[in-house]
Amino acid sequence: MISFDLTDDQKHLHDRVRGFIQEKIIPLEEPGLPRQIDDAFRQELIALAKDAGLLSPHVPKAFGGMGLNHVDMSIAFMAAGYSLLGPVAMNCAAPDEGNMNLLYKVATDEQKERWLRPLAAGDARSCFAMTEPAPGAGSDPSLMQTTYRKDGNEFVISGRKWLITGAHGAGFAIIMARPESGEEGAATMFFADMDTAGIEIVRDVATVDRTFTGGHAEVEFKDVRVPESAILGEEGQGFRYAQVRLAPARLTHCMRWWGAAKRCHDIATDYARTRMAFGKSLMEHEGVGFLTADNEIDLHLSQLSIWHTAWTLDQGKRAGRESSLAKVACSEALDRVADRSQQILGGMGVSHDTVVAQIATEMRGFRIYDGPSEVHRWSLARRLARG
Ligand SMILES: Cc1cc2nc3c(=O)[nH]c(=O)nc-3n(C[C@H](O)[C@H](O)[C@H](O)COP(=O)(O)OP(=O)(O)OC[C@H]3O[C@@H](n4cnc5c(N)ncnc54)[C@H](O)[C@@H]3O)c2cc1C
Repeated sequence: MISFDLTDDQKHLHDRVRGFIQEKIIPLEEPGLPRQIDDAFRQELIALAKDAGLLSPHVPKAFGGMGLNHVDMSIAFMAAGYSLLGPVAMNCAAPDEGNMNLLYKVATDEQKERWLRPLAAGDARSCFAMTEPAPGAGSDPSLMQTTYRKDGNEFVISGRKWLITGAHGAGFAIIMARPESGEEGAATMFFADMDTAGIEIVRDVATVDRTFTGGHAEVEFKDVRVPESAILGEEGQGFRYAQVRLAPARLTHCMRWWGAAKRCHDIATDYARTRMAFGKSLMEHEGVGFLTADNEIDLHLSQLSIWHTAWTLDQGKRAGRESSLAKVACSEALDRVADRSQQILGGMGVSHDTVVAQIATEMRGFRIYDGPSEVHRWSLARRLARG
């Protein structure tokens, strides 16, 4: 049986998150160019979600979260994304949200207590260090240059990563490295406190977005020594764990950006209904009406793709193919929604008088991170070629 009826609990969840975002979070959005969300502001936002009982929807209750499955998460995250501040407040923004999911699935009990619990409580932040400047790992992780070697009962990690979201101010990093001498294709994930000797933030990469706490940094790892207990899960399983993290993480980006795109559409539609041009409202001009109709279509199809992938994950499947499809479909469709909304708003669409321009700018990276559209298409085509 296929049903898209929300249960009473799901409706209640949606209304709670929607009310929280409308009443507590949107009033905190600043007019004009938004400031980078620093840790003090993040803590203010997190305190509000804690008070509302809406912190960490994706984290099991045993670790202080709401314990939602993927379908229920989609309801909460899509409503949270209506403000760019919403996912930060509810502690379900990237990269922490994906890292919490990875830790819950892969870390030992001891590691969960040390690294996951403070993350889930919103007390700490983390970063995920995989991408490297050329010629290192990017779309192709097998190009990884960051290495580790064993020295007594320690591991020594060396390399350089960049575009590492949240590195500035993070409590710890999950670092992906390959053995200095060892099999091709094997990599390991390590935990390291960011104040470990040898970790240096070389620069903050000046990207176009502003709402990722800690920005995106280039980080040098120079003979960083970590104990054996710092291996996340098992040695040599890094690439497999990256997939464990990525399939749900791609989907949660779709959920959050869906909410943001819906906000753009709502603002643009309101404007089109009331703004007059050539004797009638903009909406009555077919050219504008069709833009809003296309927005509805893109939002609707994205929602279906998100719900289907979430449902597949809730059946205990890996949903690698579904999350790839959803990632390409949503990142491109939601980008179109934001862009059309800017167009409908005319000059205001490229000003900071509404949040639309900021959302459109921030959303652009979504077509690149967690696998550029072309890489997902390439991987889907390879599946088809195999027959
Ligand atoms: C805002 C933002 C935040 C990020 N945060 C993190 C983070 O926290 N941690 C982290 O490790 N990384 C992070 N990244 C890095 C991100 O994952 C990489 O940018 C992404 O994997 C692409 O790698 P690259 O930039 O090296 O592009 P490249 O590998 O140089 O690829 C460039 C382009 O080539 C094309 N291309 C590549 N392969 C193929 C193919 N097989 N077929 C067709 N076309 C292809 C694509 O169009 C691609 O966009 C972030 C990136 C952004 C933009």
